Amino acid sequence: MIPAYIALGSNLADPRRQIAQAFGALAGLPQTRLDARSSLYRSTPMGPADQPDYINAVARLDTALAPLDLLDALQAIEQKQGRVRNGERWGPRTLDLDLLLFADTIIEDPRLTVPHPGLAQRNFVLYPLMEIAEQNLIIPGLGTLAGLLDACPADGLERLSPC
Ligand code: ATP
Ligand code: MG
Ligand code: MG
Repeated sequence: MIPAYIALGSNLADPRRQIAQAFGALAGLPQTRLDARSSLYRSTPMGPADQPDYINAVARLDTALAPLDLLDALQAIEQKQGRVRNGERWGPRTLDLDLLLFADTIIEDPRLTVPHPGLAQRNFVLYPLMEIAEQNLIIPGLGTLAGLLDACPADGLERLSPC
């Protein structure tokens, strides 16, 4: 079993409910255990500003799925929860599930880049990740999680009470 971290985000159609439902779907993935879930966070949107705030969280999985099979499964959950891709980058969505880390593996596939390229710059990823990460987590190619957090202000990020 391989530890994998997933970023969850939603800003449409009752985002808290979307995130709760997505945690349930992650818990139901084949050959996979949902190991930990972070608190929920509220964040101001990246990209187009004329969209609602996001609710974000991070999940830790233990999985026997191969990385591309896990990506397929994540995209199937997004689809099931009404994700519409209209071509606008970082536009509003019911659910975004991004594969942040797959153990210490570096993946450069046309469909899948791991570690997730936005990870180091995104406070709404780093802060929830820190809550549930293994001790002294190293992000392949980027150093320690603690080091990335030190360099990433929490502007626009609010931790919500646990769901
Ligand atoms: P960002 O990746 O910057 O957060 P986004 O999540 O809005 O943007 P999506 O529209 O969800 O982007 O995904 C676009 C494509 O990114 C997907 O079709 C998928 O193949 C690819 N992708 C590459 N690496 C990853 C990853 N680590 N996790 C999820 N999708 C990825
Ligand atoms: Mg994303
Ligand atoms: Mg995505």
